Amino acid sequence: MSENITSCPYKKKCSGCQLSNLDYPSQLSYKQTRIIKLMGRFCHIDEIKGMDCPYHYRNKMQAAFFKKNGKLTSGIYQSVTGRITETDNCLIEDKLSNEISLHCRKLFESFKMKPYNEETKSGFVRHMLIRRGFATNEIMLVIVTAEGKFPSVRSFVNALINKFPDIKTIVRNINDTELFLSLGEKSEILYGDGYIEDILCGKKFRISPRSFYQINPVQTEFLYSKAMELADLKPSDVVIDAYCGTGTIGLIAAEKVKKVIGVELNQSAIDDAKKNAELNNIANEEFFCDDAGKFMVALAQKGEKADVVFTDPPRAGCSREFLQSLVKLSPDRIVYISCNPETLARDMQYLLHKGYRAEKIQPVDMFPHTRHVESVVCLTRK
Ligand code: SAH
Repeated sequence: MSENITSCPYKKKCSGCQLSNLDYPSQLSYKQTRIIKLMGRFCHIDEIKGMDCPYHYRNKMQAAFFKKNGKLTSGIYQSVTGRITETDNCLIEDKLSNEISLHCRKLFESFKMKPYNEETKSGFVRHMLIRRGFATNEIMLVIVTAEGKFPSVRSFVNALINKFPDIKTIVRNINDTELFLSLGEKSEILYGDGYIEDILCGKKFRISPRSFYQINPVQTEFLYSKAMELADLKPSDVVIDAYCGTGTIGLIAAEKVKKVIGVELNQSAIDDAKKNAELNNIANEEFFCDDAGKFMVALAQKGEKADVVFTDPPRAGCSREFLQSLVKLSPDRIVYISCNPETLARDMQYLLHKGYRAEKIQPVDMFPHTRHVESVVCLTRK
């Protein structure tokens, strides 16, 4: 039987896929219409790039553990209700990661590890993060627990890696906070190097537990290739990669240009970005750990110039401070990659009023079955 989100058995209880009542073609036209409504007045909107197979596309899964009918089980945390929906097979999660998580249910039980109870603050296992590099097949497991001794850690690790040899690293993280599904300050590597590698657009990337890494590699390759095409990079260009994460976009651009400057707030992502530059023998990119807005202000004050700025902010979009300094830096081309059409529309409006123009926006369906839409647009100086 071919897979179909409209018949997902969990859709009534799980709020992860907000568009699960629509078949895939209808979801795409819904998203296209939304982008046209928000930004059709600015420029042409290209047809949204959908997926040939919009299932099991996520390279990252998060399973929360809890007790049901006296037994340990796992599922998807619902941010709206604060509850966990038990799921054995989610249609958008990676199949192998899902198998690992189901196996962990059994292992935790046999190693007598109890699920953590938020109310009584007792128990041990809180949740698990699994990432799989789709290109390399390397798997990282982050087991998030409460404080306390991890029982029979060697036997536990051996049991897992013997069954799933693609697991390259297992990290234990201790979350002693009230925050659900988050990582705590303390970590210990139980197996491997504490990170995995993946390949994107022909470049190698190191991913560690805290770093941001796009969750849909198939669509990300399309998105980043489109971003490069729109940027129309030249060997003499000085490029800024703002909100650079582990350096993906800038490192893909680096070999085509004179110099790249990457800026990002998260220190662990910057550490990965520096390693990623080394891994790919890229010597013409420098990375800075800073707030992108503050960094741009300092650059503008110093009278620095950039030819191209890639900006890939989180859902809140670019800060006003960032945009003001961006306009002062006055790059020829701004390639804006956005995961939130509302903030993209707001920021585009600002840039269009400040002497930039846009020809077209390319929407990309990075998150099939959810209401989220990614877009990329190039703004050029008039
Ligand atoms: N371009 C990267 C990451 C994009 S996600 C990629 O494609 O993989 C957005 C990134 O912005 C995250 O890595 C997040 O840590 C970072 N970020 C969030 N707020 C920021 C800020 N104020 N200044 C700089 N970076 C920020």
